[in-house]
Amino acid sequence: MRDAELQHRNTFGVAARAPWLVSIDDAAALPRALRTGPLNDGIALTLGGGSNLLFAGDPTGAVLELSGRRIATLGGDGEHAIVRADAGVIWHEFVMHSLAQGLAGLENLALIPGTVGASPIQNIGAYGVEVRDFVHAVEAFEPASGQWHRFDNAACEFAYRDSRFKQSPDRYLITAVEFALPRAPALKLDYAGIGEELAAMGVSAPTPRTVADAVIAIRRRKLPDPALLGNAGSFFKNPIVAAAQAEALLAQYPAMPVFRGADADTRKLSAAWLIDACGWKGHRDGDAGVSAAHALVLVNHGGASGLQLLDLARRIADSVHTRFAVAIEPEPRIVGARW
Ligand SMILES: Cc1cc2nc3c(=O)[nH]c(=O)nc-3n(C[C@H](O)[C@H](O)[C@H](O)COP(=O)(O)OP(=O)(O)OC[C@H]3O[C@@H](n4cnc5c(N)ncnc54)[C@H](O)[C@@H]3O)c2cc1C
Repeated sequence: MRDAELQHRNTFGVAARAPWLVSIDDAAALPRALRTGPLNDGIALTLGGGSNLLFAGDPTGAVLELSGRRIATLGGDGEHAIVRADAGVIWHEFVMHSLAQGLAGLENLALIPGTVGASPIQNIGAYGVEVRDFVHAVEAFEPASGQWHRFDNAACEFAYRDSRFKQSPDRYLITAVEFALPRAPALKLDYAGIGEELAAMGVSAPTPRTVADAVIAIRRRKLPDPALLGNAGSFFKNPIVAAAQAEALLAQYPAMPVFRGADADTRKLSAAWLIDACGWKGHRDGDAGVSAAHALVLVNHGGASGLQLLDLARRIADSVHTRFAVAIEPEPRIVGARW
């Protein structure tokens, strides 16, 4: 499609256009499509559901969408099933499909917007679970080398909201993901009110399906629905700082939440707490704002441009840095501008 409108393809709902939008259903057709037609000049952006993007400008070249939606069970053993899903499968539909097959693991990740293909990019996570825990392999095509790759879990270099794919946007076009899903559940209920929600639902013997229902209910209550109020979920990642800096901050701000880091020398701080402490919750500049319910969520009240939202995000980050000497960084990809 030439001169494609992207406003309805990003959950912030900001206006953007691309010179071309090319949708490819069959991944096997990718190498040829990259040699001919609009993709021949390179890919400016690989687009999934547009739920982790901010268009601060228009993509300057062709946008690629991998739209294949097949799901297949490849095999497995007594403990796990290996399930392969094309990049274009809607993430939440995949979660519900796996639960309907009697497979566990993804219940805490229910209702995260977007596609299967994007799920390994930032190692999506919620309610104490990350997708890295279940990724068996990622299939990808690398346009620069013309090579197909199959990355096993270790080769994906997963970290908190990060992976090798996020480090090099558009280098690898993820065409499918294989998941190793446990047949016996190991439920994680001790995070962000899941246990309380189940109790309120009257569930005394939780199953993966009822945990997913609890997660869905909590998310519907807490997060603004992008169909009603444009947003990209959490706009900032929780910052990782040296343990000594966390201790010094804690001495000054005893109420500040501090979490374990990936190793003994680091700690994770709550970006939401830092932003809230700087007074941003519910702030509004025209149509660009911060959710009144959730300090981490930037919102588009209707007509905000991507640049207005980016400007607000920069001012929030500057104020956190001035007050706490902590750098917070955006979680979504910013298209058309540098952070
Ligand atoms: C209301 C709301 C709640 C959210 N909650 C969470 C949450 O709890 N946890 C969480 O981790 N995230 C959350 N997010 C963020 C978002 O849902 C995830 O990051 C999701 O994985 C993005 O998927 P997408 O298909 O929309 O990707 P897009 O936004 O389209 O793309 C994101 C990035 O992935 C790249 N990409 C997409 N598909 C491919 C592909 N096939 N190959 C190569 N690169 C690709 C894009 O180029 C871009 O760099 C939330 C967002 C919203 C709006």
